[in-house]
Amino acid sequence: MDLSRQSSIILSITILTTFASFVKSSLPQGLQTLNISSEITTDPNITASFATDFGNLFNRTPGAVFLPSSPNDIATLIRFSYTSSTPFHISQRGLGHSAYGQTLVPDGILIDMSSLDRTNYSRINVTNGPIPYADVGAEQIWIDVLNATLKHDLMPRVLTDYLSLTVGGTLSNAGLSGRAFMHGPQISNVYELDVITGTGEIVTCSRESNPDLFYAVLGGLGQFGVITRARIALEPAQKRVRWLELFYTDIKVLTSDEEKLISTGNSLSGIVDYLEGEVLFSVTQGSLTGSFNFSNSDVEKIVKLGSENSGPIYLLNVVLFYNDTTATSLEQKVELLLKELHYTSGFAFSYDIPLFNFLNRLAFFGGAPSSVVQFHPWLVMLVPKSKILEFGSMVYRGILNGYKGGRFFLLYPLNRAMWDDEMSAVTPNEEVFFRADFLWTSEAANETKSIAKKNKQIQNICKKYNFGCKEYLPHFTNPIAWQKQFGEKWGKFVSRKMKYDPKALLSPGQRIFTTLG
Ligand code: FAD
Repeated sequence: MDLSRQSSIILSITILTTFASFVKSSLPQGLQTLNISSEITTDPNITASFATDFGNLFNRTPGAVFLPSSPNDIATLIRFSYTSSTPFHISQRGLGHSAYGQTLVPDGILIDMSSLDRTNYSRINVTNGPIPYADVGAEQIWIDVLNATLKHDLMPRVLTDYLSLTVGGTLSNAGLSGRAFMHGPQISNVYELDVITGTGEIVTCSRESNPDLFYAVLGGLGQFGVITRARIALEPAQKRVRWLELFYTDIKVLTSDEEKLISTGNSLSGIVDYLEGEVLFSVTQGSLTGSFNFSNSDVEKIVKLGSENSGPIYLLNVVLFYNDTTATSLEQKVELLLKELHYTSGFAFSYDIPLFNFLNRLAFFGGAPSSVVQFHPWLVMLVPKSKILEFGSMVYRGILNGYKGGRFFLLYPLNRAMWDDEMSAVTPNEEVFFRADFLWTSEAANETKSIAKKNKQIQNICKKYNFGCKEYLPHFTNPIAWQKQFGEKWGKFVSRKMKYDPKALLSPGQRIFTTLG
């Protein structure tokens, strides 16, 4: 599709949706007559609680909040807007873990997906056959899916690191963690979906049936429909994990070991079940407690390593899953890993814990809310393997040189072959690429501004040197930037939008076809 045609499509969608707003506190005419009207509220106490998200960078109160009790209710609402002479925006919200207002909808109705069922788990059904799977409501969170599947000694092949994210929310992005190198992102591990499109049609789709919609929705940023059910691939769950924490002082050595671990055809291939690296800028007593396992004497050693190193140090988490029958070979594998990996001598730490504790290790994120207002201007870059060292030297030792902030600067490789190119999600154009996260937390407006500036610098480095990076959990504010993000997939993305959500009603907070208002 040529660029002028794409621009005119965007323009016509934008013009259409300009008419889509309605005055807050007065619902669109006719809505009150629908059988779902009692599930729609404009109560300011409720609408205000959906005015922001995890990022806390935007505040936009929805016109109304919709609390559906069934997928059919959602179809009724969308169909009403689609056929109305004054269509309005609709935003399907998982739990609002987005950072940049992706679920906000100041001129429309926000669907609180959790009202479908978050309490009695009747929408999680496990089938333990030759190809095990779970049919789960898209409103479910991964920890509940995991708990249900573990009862059958099964688990989803790929989980996110934090498990209180919704199934619909992560499938709309990709769903990444240290297991994605071997099975691909969560979107590569879905057999079937129920989707309500932007015209209000309820469609079951898979690779075999309505594949175009299936591929569109996976990684589709909520643009093509509301997922209401997903059939998730499962595998046998092991009982325990051996968790190795290995420290490095050189990014070249770290990334080379990481690549070896995710590649085939070498002595370490297929040994590990989970792998994530992390960049540690600030190595202090305080920064090494909390979610880490280290003893006091370990902490002292690691702090010393950090202070003696010019620049950040790196932590590689290598995890092996095992049960009684594989316990013997486990020791051989651990021995081989410790022999062949090039971590700093004396800086390998090993823990043995139940599998569930490992998978749920970030549960503390869901604890009591901080007493201080926090902002999360997150940035996640996907960097081609051939550029990761340049990226590292310009970003970790350049822009962030001397940075003293906290944790969660992840750095680990993924295999592109495990992603399905038909899907909407985008990756860099190399077989191996790295996920480089900047999961900032800020507690003051000026700090947030300074982080935003750093994010911009990091994005600009990728642009200026043509690194061919893509963003994960992307956020852009103009069609040209979106077009660049999607690259060759942009034409298909736009034509799928015209097909499945021709009035651009859904998930306007992504600001791909609309402005935020
Ligand atoms: P929301 O933020 O509510 O929604 C995200 C987008 O998806 C919106 O555009 C929304 O309209 C759309 N959407 C939501 N539900 C549906 C649906 N049913 N059908 C269609 N569209 C829908 N990501 C990872 O990949 N791996 C991680 O390990 C990881 N860890 C995280 C840890 C924390 C603490 C946080 C805050 C985020 C993390 N994320 C991670 C990012 C997370 O995947 C995204 O924030 C994602 O948006 C999921 O959050 P949510 O379920 O609350 O969805």
